[in-house]
Amino acid sequence: ELSQRFEDAVKGLRGQAAISETNVDGALRDVRRALLEADVSLPVVKEFIEEVRRKAVGAEVVRGVSPDQQFIQLVHAQLVETMGGANAPLARAAEGPTVILMAGLQGAGKTTATAKLGLHLKEQGRRPLLVAADIYRPAAIDQLQTLGRQIGVEVFSLGSETSPEAIAAAGVARGREEGFDTVLVDTAGRLQIDTAMMEEMVRIREASHPDEVLLVVDSMIGQEAADLTRAFHEQVGITGAVLTKLDGDSRGGAALSIRKVSGAPIKFIGTGEKVEALQPFHPERMASRILGMGDVLTLVEKATKEVELADVEKMQRKLQEASFDFSDFVQQMRLIKRMGSLGGLMKLIPGMNKIDDGMLRQGESQLKRIEAMIGSMTEAERRQPELLAAQPSRRRRIAAGSGHTPADVDKVLQDFQKMRGFMQQMTRGGMPGMPGMPGM
Ligand code: GDP
Ligand code: MG
Repeated sequence: ELSQRFEDAVKGLRGQAAISETNVDGALRDVRRALLEADVSLPVVKEFIEEVRRKAVGAEVVRGVSPDQQFIQLVHAQLVETMGGANAPLARAAEGPTVILMAGLQGAGKTTATAKLGLHLKEQGRRPLLVAADIYRPAAIDQLQTLGRQIGVEVFSLGSETSPEAIAAAGVARGREEGFDTVLVDTAGRLQIDTAMMEEMVRIREASHPDEVLLVVDSMIGQEAADLTRAFHEQVGITGAVLTKLDGDSRGGAALSIRKVSGAPIKFIGTGEKVEALQPFHPERMASRILGMGDVLTLVEKATKEVELADVEKMQRKLQEASFDFSDFVQQMRLIKRMGSLGGLMKLIPGMNKIDDGMLRQGESQLKRIEAMIGSMTEAERRQPELLAAQPSRRRRIAAGSGHTPADVDKVLQDFQKMRGFMQQMTRGGMPGMPGMPGM
């Protein structure tokens, strides 16, 4: 399972205070594998990994997020950015009908996508005209006409005796004369990239002056999407793409390849054979799909939000009111664990971002001892640390119960009281010096 693999991949980062060259390498190896399994083409994967490495190394761990969570978010964000950030809308001609040329291999889903786009535009109150410029397969014209009837959109055809470029030009002229606002030209594809197909596409382009040349790509072709896109982009020039058959098993890695190779945005995705099965392309959804980890990201977001809003605010209020006791301390420990590190928690506290790793590690092992001591306290002792200060017998009992000396317990008690005073001072504004957290 890919999402499992991802969780494993980032385990190496868990508990680190910052992302470094060494701890990022293992995780990046697994990102690389995940992308290849999602069928992103190899050169695209390599370039992407280097970009993530540059951004990840040295990145400070943000407020309330552990390094592993942050790494996942960083990879995800980089994928989103690479795929264009937001959805790119269709171009509109300044005057006259907007002309959209559909290009791609045979079977990619061009004719279907032409009808799907026609329906999409019609539903937005536009007036599209479909043009049948695939003259090679007798069924192609019929197919478009059937789809056109189904969606209630007019289809322009001159049969199969006229050249595709002449049909395209005549279709655009008809669109202009009759006040259609969009002309969608369906063209013929071949089973593989060849010169004849490219030359024909160029002739159709020159005859119809399109505002958009949309490359229709079957997401199932995976790695090959890169070469296909390069050929069309270099020889015809594309302005966007439609990625089809995403209702299948494909992880959608082709989306990344298409964008990287051409710079052109994916504008729509096809998610089924029906004419309604078309959706605007959303980079963030595709990024989650490519990584195979939509659920993981949702969890990360949720956990982060929970920690920040509920626990931290409550804790800060308590610190301010000096009502912070050992029960709060236990809760704070849980918070630290949920956030992956003490460093993550410290960064939530204003002014406490200059603590080095050695101190953090030492602090964390000390915190474990203190947790054991708190485990031996009664509820009343947790709520009222003063009880311990007043009665040595209580301190001796806790020492015995937690496997420490009475002196250890005394020290923790002193530190705790110092910390309370310090926190109070600090949350009221000042940053007087180093924190007196117990054990630090
Ligand atoms: P063209 O040769 O590029 O015009 O491809 P077609 O539009 O004729 O589509 C080829 C086949 O793919 C047809 O059987 C379509 O029903 C199917 N198809 C197109 N788009 C999708 C899609 O998004 N999902 C699925 N499952 N099938 C699709
Ligand atoms: Mg077709």
